[in-house]
Amino acid sequence: MAYKCHVLVVGCGLSGLASALALAQTGHRVTVFERSSKLQEIGAGIQLSPNATRMLQHWGVLEEVLKYADRPEAGTFRSYRGDVLSQSPPVSDPRLVNMAPYIVIHRADLLRALLSGTRKHKIEVRLGSDVKEIDFSKPSLRLSTSEVHEADVILGADGERSRCRGILLGHTDPPYSPGDIVYRISVPVADITEDHLAWDLKKRSSVNFWMGSGGHVVSYLIQHDMLNVVLVYAEGGSGKVMYGPQRADLEEFRSKISDWDPVLHELINVEGSVCTKWTLFQIHEPNQWRHESGRFVLIGDAAHAILPCLAQGAAQAFEDAGVLGGIFSLSVGRDQIPDALRVFEEVRKPRASDVRHRTLDQKAIFALADGPDQEKRDAKLRAGADHELFKWLWEYDAAESGREAWKNFTKTHEYGIKPHNGIEGTRESSIL
Ligand SMILES: Cc1cc2nc3c(=O)[nH]c(=O)nc-3n(C[C@H](O)[C@H](O)[C@H](O)COP(=O)(O)OP(=O)(O)OC[C@H]3O[C@@H](n4cnc5c(N)ncnc54)[C@H](O)[C@@H]3O)c2cc1C
Repeated sequence: MAYKCHVLVVGCGLSGLASALALAQTGHRVTVFERSSKLQEIGAGIQLSPNATRMLQHWGVLEEVLKYADRPEAGTFRSYRGDVLSQSPPVSDPRLVNMAPYIVIHRADLLRALLSGTRKHKIEVRLGSDVKEIDFSKPSLRLSTSEVHEADVILGADGERSRCRGILLGHTDPPYSPGDIVYRISVPVADITEDHLAWDLKKRSSVNFWMGSGGHVVSYLIQHDMLNVVLVYAEGGSGKVMYGPQRADLEEFRSKISDWDPVLHELINVEGSVCTKWTLFQIHEPNQWRHESGRFVLIGDAAHAILPCLAQGAAQAFEDAGVLGGIFSLSVGRDQIPDALRVFEEVRKPRASDVRHRTLDQKAIFALADGPDQEKRDAKLRAGADHELFKWLWEYDAAESGREAWKNFTKTHEYGIKPHNGIEGTRESSIL
């Protein structure tokens, strides 16, 4: 089949896979290079908000994803002591989740569903392919085996510890820890019976939050038989840095939440519960995601790794893919790729930056110590949650946004209209 452009993607995580799907679906040839010899998603559960599932719908894989996912029908915000503050979190608000669902899913299942899409669209995934160098001008990449691959455009989707970002910036740019640790407990629910304190958490699919000084806990059911319980906790900068999940002692977790809801303690006691912990990282916001050659751009965590307090990391990677797919679904000649990547960055960078700042706000709100600010937060929740933030986040259609931006760009550049004072003039205004 004749294809439009050939795209090379560095990294086969959620971001690389999503962009591969978005571009292959619109007739582009995509080759993905993955360093690992086996595909795997680290971690257990992931929440995907409607701005992400809307993209899965666009790429024709939502049905497959829903085979494994749960749609939470309820949710609760609690104080750390267990007092219920609100029974109407946005995840179950029909006004927000009707058009595209809010889902929770095991990461391995999400990966499996996305991979089914790569087979359908004949995306080539090359495992055991460690990308060492990029020549931005061609553009081409060189693997550790010295093999060189050339194409029309390269996407750097190699995660928060991105080598691509270092090559683009001309210096290493490691992620940094703001001092937060994540503890995750996987609790098998088979033996939780009606008389157990945690029965409510098992009997229906719901997302539950507990908010306390220094951190918050979120829990939801995945694969119908396991409660995914995650504590994000500000430990300060002095602790040992842990890259990726490491086995942790359940008692250590208990010590962090000693005066929290007894339900959480009962969960830890369930036979077979397993605890892991690791350090959370974010990156400095790069000034630019694109190389000036216009043939390379960073996406996903490589461009905008954030903390998980709004559950938006993967969703933002899906938005990147959605915008790219939207732009490249329209007529983009090979010589227009630099413009297309510029438009992509103009659409995506400000929104990703906003989401990062709102994530940090949310982290602070979740982790308030007892006092006037916490009382104000709780009163607001009791009065009925204000869902403006979630409307802004979740109603966004990245593919539409990409299409619109490219159409506007081509319209304003059709007759050689130049940007004035950094503002693109419309055709009409320039005629006047
Ligand atoms: C505790 C926690 C909970 C989270 N919960 C949520 C949530 O509920 N919802 C949500 O939307 N997001 C969530 N996130 C964020 C989400 O997991 C990430 O944003 C997302 O997985 C990033 O995907 P990525 O593909 O950009 O990066 P990665 O998953 O890191 O993938 C990068 C890939 O590139 C490969 N690679 C690296 N270097 C090279 C190289 N040189 N050559 C070839 N391949 C290479 C790697 O092997 C890897 O496969 C959470 C994150 C954490 C830590």
